[in-house]
Amino acid sequence: MFDKVLIANRGEIALRIQRACREIGIATVAVHSTADADAMHVRLADESVCIGPPPAAESYLNIPRLLAACEITGADAIHPGYGFLSENARFAEILEEHGITFIGPTSEHIRVMGDKIEAKETAKRLGIPVVPGSDGAITNEAQAQRVAKQMGFPVLVKAAAGGGGRGMKVARSAEELDIAIKTARSEAKAAFGDDSVYLEKYLSKPRHIEIQVFGDGKGNAIHLGERDCSLQRRHQKVWEEAPSPALNAEQRKSIGSTVARAMQKLKYRGAGTVEFLYEDGEFFFIEMNTRLQVEHPVTEMITGLDLVIEQIRIASGAPLSLTQDEVTLSGHAIECRINAENARTFMPSPGTITYWHPPGGLGVRVDSGVYQGYRIPPFYDSLIGKLIVHGKNRNECLMRLKRCLSEFVIDGIETTIPLFVDLVQQPDIANGIYDIHWLEKFLQKP
Ligand code: ADP
Repeated sequence: MFDKVLIANRGEIALRIQRACREIGIATVAVHSTADADAMHVRLADESVCIGPPPAAESYLNIPRLLAACEITGADAIHPGYGFLSENARFAEILEEHGITFIGPTSEHIRVMGDKIEAKETAKRLGIPVVPGSDGAITNEAQAQRVAKQMGFPVLVKAAAGGGGRGMKVARSAEELDIAIKTARSEAKAAFGDDSVYLEKYLSKPRHIEIQVFGDGKGNAIHLGERDCSLQRRHQKVWEEAPSPALNAEQRKSIGSTVARAMQKLKYRGAGTVEFLYEDGEFFFIEMNTRLQVEHPVTEMITGLDLVIEQIRIASGAPLSLTQDEVTLSGHAIECRINAENARTFMPSPGTITYWHPPGGLGVRVDSGVYQGYRIPPFYDSLIGKLIVHGKNRNECLMRLKRCLSEFVIDGIETTIPLFVDLVQQPDIANGIYDIHWLEKFLQKP
């Protein structure tokens, strides 16, 4: 097992990883930009190193500085969290070269899954059903028109290097397609430095359902059921739950085993999430994330497993801590992403938190790195915390969530809590009847 882990991240996830390390007796190193000197993950770490000025490129994304921090502190492994360098194959490779363990999959698997075109090819080869689309990248307009005509409009133009919903454009007709390709290309070029795009059939009413997997890198792999992340705004998740209100036990077992078998064939190592769109009883692979997800706590709440500890154990060479038969799913969990944003306009609202009163009680978990008097810097993602609630069943979970939202007080800044207060009152939400477009439509209502 490792003696000391450096956490190459900030905010709630840095703290989350620190907690796991502390429970299993591993010392932690926090790294931070000058803007985060007062952050909770820095205060609670065993050691901390300032790695640069506020812009992420000069701090959290700066590989030489992270390596220097490892050298100064003698950390033997790095946990990348999510975002930042967590899906950077080159980073994983550099760490391998320096004898520092990257807590995650091999650089090769990160690379394959990081290119969505290659990821789809790989998924297909491993027996996972994929969304119909162009075989590979679009090379010219005539080819794109041909493929789109075959599939039928609407189609979705997606960036091969895509992430965070960027470089994605819908085309409803042949005329729209040329423009969609041009805009998706330029957006992708600007965001990822790679303008390759591909086409996918645009599904009109799917749910986003993803399977959590774990592999030991030696051919053993298990799944931990699914999460339903259909409530999205601009292709970004807002609310996640497990299990999905749309699946029954048989469907869960069937897609779960398909994915676990694929991961066994791939000899996948560590935590991963295989994302699907689900429509009319059918699953279609869209991508795989080779890291811990923001929404991992809902899986933890229903499995009782600490996914970060599991990641650390596997990275240190230990086998999976349980077999597929030992995985039991119990009750229901919902996570609300609390952002420092106006709940209607979603304008960021950085500033000082003048009052902070999180909810508590049975089945309630708040993952956050903020505190009363904390000043939210304007440089990073606006996620300031996650409220996760567990109940015996979905109904109890919803009632508990409603109660928690009424207790939660955050003053001094605007947050997305009022949106969730609204959502829990909607009959469609209560009945679990929503697809990936539901929230956008709801938000358009006056
Ligand atoms: P990113 O990596 O940018 O997050 P994804 O491929 O994971 O992109 O897709 C993000 C979201 O975009 C999905 O959860 C879904 O809401 C929507 N989406 C992606 N592909 C399709 C599709 N073929 N049809 C309809 N919606 C899609």
